[in-house]
Amino acid sequence: MPLEAAGCTDKGRVRDQNEDTILVDVEHRLFAVADGCGGHAAGEVASSQVVEILAQRARPLGLAEAPREPRERAALLQQLGEEIHQAGVAIYERGQAEPQFAGMATTATVLLVRGDGGYVAHIGDSRLYCLREGQLLQLTKDHTLAAEMVRRGLMEPLDIKTWVYRNTLQRALGHIQQAQIDTILIDLQPADVLLLCSDGLHGLLEDEQIRRELGRIAERGCDGTARQLVDLANEYGGTDNVSAVVIRVL
Ligand code: CA
Repeated sequence: MPLEAAGCTDKGRVRDQNEDTILVDVEHRLFAVADGCGGHAAGEVASSQVVEILAQRARPLGLAEAPREPRERAALLQQLGEEIHQAGVAIYERGQAEPQFAGMATTATVLLVRGDGGYVAHIGDSRLYCLREGQLLQLTKDHTLAAEMVRRGLMEPLDIKTWVYRNTLQRALGHIQQAQIDTILIDLQPADVLLLCSDGLHGLLEDEQIRRELGRIAERGCDGTARQLVDLANEYGGTDNVSAVVIRVL
């Protein structure tokens, strides 16, 4: 399935450093957003290391022939999840071994495209969206306390926007050795537009704005769309690092 892609990451208007890391590898059809946390540059180390390890380990998956049988597709999805898990173990072990990196952690939302399959591995509160036929779908679930409260009916979605614990992660790579990764397989269609982004973007833009900007991809292309989304987040305050990777299925 032919596709094009581009990404943009920025430290925003408030933070001194950019602890987000993105991966845009069109050749291997591998894309990722990782959002690190931890003091003294540890977040930056966590997110960049996870993406580096992932790129090394998962690139070969992008070169093999696309699986067709459900069993082969399930095996590839599981393997992608395992690669992320192993990257997380490396972060955890480095945090244990080097005191300056103790407690570092990162989110990871990864998309590998093989044939018409979108293989997704995800942990944390970065997101994958898909715009299809004018509808915006959030394909990943946020692993935050706030999202869990909404899922359980204990809080209203609007209330969590201002809740003091809204960014508290329930799951991330690096916190513990055995992190639980979500894996999702999506059937891609021509004209789908996918967005991987960090919470510095989806925390500041409403879904409706994201839908509108992705819908203008024919005018701006992937690069212009990713930049526009990041610029908008900065216009709205740029309170966090902000990242967008935009993939257009042709
Ligand atoms: Ca963030």
